[in-house]
Amino acid sequence: MKINSNYDKIQNSYLFVEIANRVNKYTAGNPNADIIRLGIGDVTRPLAPCVVKAGLKAVEEMGRAETFRGYSPDSQGYGFLRDAISRYYSLFGVKVAAHEIHVSDGAKSDCGNIVDLFDADNTVLIPDPVYPVYLDSNVMSGRKIIYCNATEETDFAPMPDKKVKCDIIYLCAPNNPTGAVFTAEQLKAWVDYANDMGAVIIFDAAYEAFVSQPGIPRSIFAVDGARNCAIELCSFSKTAGFTGTRCGYTVVPDELLGGKLAKMWARRQSTKFNGTSYIQQRMAEAAYSDEGIAQCRENIDAYRKNAKLISDALAEMGIYHTGGVNSPYVWLKCGTDSWDFFDRLLTKANVVGTPGSGFGKNGEGYFRLTAFNTYEKTAEAIERIKKVL
Ligand code: PLP
Repeated sequence: MKINSNYDKIQNSYLFVEIANRVNKYTAGNPNADIIRLGIGDVTRPLAPCVVKAGLKAVEEMGRAETFRGYSPDSQGYGFLRDAISRYYSLFGVKVAAHEIHVSDGAKSDCGNIVDLFDADNTVLIPDPVYPVYLDSNVMSGRKIIYCNATEETDFAPMPDKKVKCDIIYLCAPNNPTGAVFTAEQLKAWVDYANDMGAVIIFDAAYEAFVSQPGIPRSIFAVDGARNCAIELCSFSKTAGFTGTRCGYTVVPDELLGGKLAKMWARRQSTKFNGTSYIQQRMAEAAYSDEGIAQCRENIDAYRKNAKLISDALAEMGIYHTGGVNSPYVWLKCGTDSWDFFDRLLTKANVVGTPGSGFGKNGEGYFRLTAFNTYEKTAEAIERIKKVL
């Protein structure tokens, strides 16, 4: 038996494990410390009432012989949800047909699984810093990785370099961890670059619901030419608070390799995945109803208010930062080793954030704060941070 030795190449300690270790060590010595967590990107507000109602109704249906459901007829998702997602896209002017949508248990799974469609002998372009799953899932399957530097020069929205050749490109906007977004022109430059090279873009739109400025695309399919080169991953996690409920989707357009990639993805999913539960899919459908969108927006607006609080305070302190406008993340320049900064905030302000170096080498010297705590706790954290910086 030979193991997949690519696993030896993955960085050992996962970022959030190290954060938990440091926080636990500190609280063991300081049991009365009132820690405020602006670190992990998990939502905190409850599900929208109409989503809960849809979930309860679906559970009741499962409890009656006449309406009980077993395996779903199609592992790509029930028609009612695929139609609801297609309609959701149309609300911001993007045409995606229901059959191009593949429902899953979340964007992380799709992100890890989509690599199955591509040969190991592909060069993968990954922005640095970025959500670590793109890197780790490709390292696990032994692909060559090259990086695209996201830096302060472009406010962490990196642009393509035509001299660089690659086959698979990852883009995430609004970005985790930087909160940076692409304008339509910037995204078009990426689409043209990919089409010129015959590369595929894997576009992670998990935070699309946070886009608030006009001119910032919520989907890569808002850009001409994207249907020939892009796959989009999206999620109900941040839009509808589904981090614990689990539901996401991937759009593989018909034009991509003349429909071959869509067929391959459907085949891959129906072989290795038996679908998301009926209950989750009914809840997701409710989240994308008019009522659900309005109720979920209240939660997003609350997170936005927190993001603005953090961003305004940093601006007042003259600290360079990105994000916070179209994103629940604020990415600030800490100017020192980002783990030292983490320790300083933890021990002096009892505030937990995320060191930028955990997202790539260009994250060194930067720090991520998230808007997912309550308004009161966020305001309190800001007051404490102000005293320390
Ligand atoms: N993509 C990005 C950029 C994320 O930040 C996250 C979660 O934090 C995910 C995907 C995972 O989403 P899901 O909860 O749908 O698996």
